[in-house]
Amino acid sequence: MAILKLRNVAYQAGQKQILQNVSFEVEEGAFLTLIGPSGAGKSTILKLIANLINPTSGKIFFREKDIMKIDPLIYRRSVSYCFQQPSLFGEKVADNLSFPYEVRKQAVDRKRLLQLLHEVSLEADYLDKDVTSLSGGEKQRIALIRNLFFLPEVLLLDEVTTGLDEDNKAIVHQLIERVHQQGVTIIQVTHDQDEITAAQNIIRIKKGGILE
Ligand code: ADP
Ligand code: ADP
Repeated sequence: MAILKLRNVAYQAGQKQILQNVSFEVEEGAFLTLIGPSGAGKSTILKLIANLINPTSGKIFFREKDIMKIDPLIYRRSVSYCFQQPSLFGEKVADNLSFPYEVRKQAVDRKRLLQLLHEVSLEADYLDKDVTSLSGGEKQRIALIRNLFFLPEVLLLDEVTTGLDEDNKAIVHQLIERVHQQGVTIIQVTHDQDEITAAQNIIRIKKGGILE
């Protein structure tokens, strides 16, 4: 079954037509890769799917429902968007990792928290670190697991490994692969040649959103 459907989606910013007539479907459990030249509109497609911006025309359906008609809070939990530039907040790493529990008014599951930290090769001592003291790779790993305490149904990855060294990239790839194996539908945008080579399901975006 298609978990997401884009129907004739167009997006205009000011006078600029960024996307036109974008239509495709994403099967539940798929691992889809969007590639294409810089400026083609790949990131815009992810942001539209995440409901961070609204199409100028056309519709996006999540499980057959128009996403504009789904409670944004509920949608956000189902479809989770990860930025290329991770945005951590607060003072400590722990502030970020307890946040998903706070918004759900749940007690922090410390065991799960430590387990996820461990999955990205970080240990308990990271919880007390200042976010400003982290490397780019550490920030991205923390930002990613922040989205995964409560597994979304769809994970949108916007060039999340850009700028990471090989070790950090490998850790992130393993995490994403595990999440995919747990049934999460993945849509990634990437320029990374290794990721493109490994991809099985590719949509190529040309300027203006023409698909191949
Ligand atoms: P990609 O991810 O394929 O590199 P983007 O989706 O980031 O491309 O951007 C596509 C084009 O739309 C780019 O030319 C970008 O500058 C432009 N763009 C994106 N968002 C806006 C906006 N809010 N206002 C003006 N131009 C935008
Ligand atoms: P960003 O979206 O840049 O990561 P936010 O401050 O919007 O930063 O959210 C931080 C993280 O907290 C998100 O990545 C997500 O994991 C989680 N989050 C935010 N809002 C909600 C929400 N309403 N429901 C569930 N999780 C949320």
